[in-house]
Formats: sequence, C-alpha cells, structure tokens
Amino acid sequence: MPTVAAYTATSPTAPLTPGTVERREVGPKDVLIDIAYAGVCHSDIHTVRGDWGEVPYPLTVGHEIAGVVARVGEEVTAHKVGDRVGVGCMVDSCRECANCLAGAEQYCLRGFTDTYNGTDRDGTTTQGGYSTGIVVDEHFVLRIPDTIPFEKAAPLLCAGITTYSPLRNWNAGPGTKVAVVGLGGLGHMAVKIAHALGAEVTVLSQSLKKREDGLRFGADHYHATADPATFEQLAGAFDLIVNTVSAPIDLDAYLNLLALDGTIVSVGAPPEPVSVTLFTLFENRRSFAGSKIGGIAQTQEMLDFCAEHGIAPEVEVIAADEVNDAWERVLASDVRYRFVIDTSTLGGS
Ligand code: NAP
Ligand code: ZN
Ligand code: ZN
Repeated sequence: MPTVAAYTATSPTAPLTPGTVERREVGPKDVLIDIAYAGVCHSDIHTVRGDWGEVPYPLTVGHEIAGVVARVGEEVTAHKVGDRVGVGCMVDSCRECANCLAGAEQYCLRGFTDTYNGTDRDGTTTQGGYSTGIVVDEHFVLRIPDTIPFEKAAPLLCAGITTYSPLRNWNAGPGTKVAVVGLGGLGHMAVKIAHALGAEVTVLSQSLKKREDGLRFGADHYHATADPATFEQLAGAFDLIVNTVSAPIDLDAYLNLLALDGTIVSVGAPPEPVSVTLFTLFENRRSFAGSKIGGIAQTQEMLDFCAEHGIAPEVEVIAADEVNDAWERVLASDVRYRFVIDTSTLGGS
C-alpha cells in the first residue's frame, strides 16, 4: 500500500503536524495523483475543530487538490499519466441513484464519499489533500485546463464550484443583481464568477478594508455590514444573495435586501441552527435556500469557464509548516484570499 507524506490533525485543538497517510493500491478504475498544491478551505478547520461533530483522529484534511497523474488502472479511459488533474470534495458516490444519474453526485441519495472524513468502500476513513499523493476513482478526477496554474486551480475545486453552482442554478447573469456576503475564499470567487456571468455584483463585507480588492475582482458596489445604513440603503435591492459567511448572520436583516422573488442562498456552514422570521419571507415572496458544492460535470464546466474567462483565485502559497498560522488567519478573516499549500514542502512521499 503506498504511503504518502501528509500534514495531519491529531486532536481538535493541537496544531497539525507532519504524518503519513496510507493510500489504497491503484484499482482498475483508479488514478494515482502526485499532489502539487492543496488549498485551505474553512471547512477543513470546521471539521478538525469538531464544529460539525466528532471526527476520528488522526485526520488529514484538504479537498482542493491539484496535481499530475502518476499512474492509472487498466480500465481508466478519462485520464493518462502526465495529465494535469484535480480532485474536489467528493471521491465516490453510488452513481446509480436519480441524483447521481442527473449529474448531482453531491446529492447522491446514498450519500457521497467525502474526500476526507468520509467512509470509503473498504470501510476506512478517507484522508484528504494536505498530502503528497491520493488515489481516486477516475469519475471524480477533473481535468485542469492548461492555462490555469496548479496553485490557482486547487481552490477552484471547492471554493470555485461551491459558488459557481448556485450562481448558475439561480441564473445570475445580465440584468440580475447579485450580492456576495463575506469576501473570503468562497466570496472572492463568487464575485469573480458572478461578474464574468454578467451580473451586477455587490460585496457585503464586515468592513470597507478590502474594498479596493473587491472592486478589482469585478464588484460594482461594496458596502460594510457593520454600518447599519447599509441595510436601509439596500433594502429590496437584490435578486440573489450568496452568503459565504462561516459564522451565523442575522438572516432577517439580509432577507430584507431581497427584491420580489429574490433568494438568499447560504453556502457558509456555521454549525448553529439559524432562525428566520416567516414574515420576512412573505414580503416580496422571498426564498431562503442552501447549496452544496457541485456535481462532477458542473465542476468540469466551471474549470473550463474559468479558463475561458481568465478567472482564477488570489492565492497565498505557503509551506506545510505554515498551515497552522494560516488557519488562525482564516479564522480572523485575514485571508487574501486563499491559502494554498505547496505539497513539495511535505517531504518525501
Ligand atoms: P473564509 O475564507 O474564512 O471566508 C469567510 C468570510 O466570511 C470571511 O472572509 C469574512 O468576510 C466573513 N466572516 C467571517 N466571520 C464572520 C462573522 N463573524 N461575521 C460576519 N462575517 C464573517 O471561508 P471559506 O473557505 O470561504 O468558507 C466559507 C464558509 O463556507 C465556511 O463555513 C465553509 O465551511 C463553507 N463551505 C460550504 C460549502 C458548501 O458546499 N456549502 C463548500 C465550501 C465551504 P469579510 O471579512 O469580507 O466580512
Ligand atoms: Zn471546501
Ligand atoms: Zn447516488
């Protein structure tokens, strides 16, 4: 069984430390990927810190994976050795249920297998991308367009698709007014993608500190949510609000910003239940929705869209031993705008 170098969590509170992960042998439909870069998603932190429930330690997280195919099983047709590829949040699903057949593997009726902290077919816990290599069924391996460098491709595999999917599903485009709440990893991708789709884009951030950046990413307007005047000025302004905030927000206040038939889609995933006043929904026939990553076909579509429109995340490449500091900066909303681990700093595989 191939053993790869990794950076691993051993408890909810201890810093991540160097470790190893056992990968399965390459099966007939499997692809072995030499990982070049792994993005740091806020979900990695939620998971390890136990925000979403208990997890088994040691656990290696990371579901924004970009690298090169090192080996393929004999039945693999979609990828070959040397190809530039990526893996996102899923490594398996039943591929037979109605949702899988509709290309919505993230809503697999039998549950998809998470890239980390999932239960693999052999019963083992899946281990993620803060490592030098991974073995994945070819169906869950994406092609990275040549024009997107690996370190910028990695965050697209979660932050990119998680924002692209709701923007497409709720028809962001010319004539629609879209607000993005939170300008972090997901939020800055939402701004770039919504702008490329032709929508009028507004950033709603806690402060005006990142205003220049937001406008550079394609936002037309930028407001601070710490200023109560923002909520008066923008009442009824938006067709779609994409909420990427990792903490609870006052949903009623944001719902009031929706126009007739407007929808707020939460992709941010704080663990606490949220409350909504139904009368706020009645007004303007508003909707409150959620969205989870995106299917494999749509993830490929998103990668190709980003290549075509010259869109890529803003990344800060770090060595593996900088990841604990990076996590603290993510928690402090001090990320500009995605940390990406250079996995060559993990040591030999
Ligand atoms: P991130 O980089 O930390 O961005 C979150 C942003 O939210 C921050 O940059 C900050 O933006 C804002 N924020 C943070 N704390 C806040 C608070 N207390 N009040 C108001 N605003 C606050 O995180 P991310 O990686 O983009 O992930 C965002 C969330 O999406 C996480 O909960 C993650 O688990 C979730 N997620 C969900 C899916 C899905 O499929 N639904 C997929 C991936 C991630 P400003 O500084 O601009 O205010
Ligand atoms: Zn993620
Ligand atoms: Zn299924």
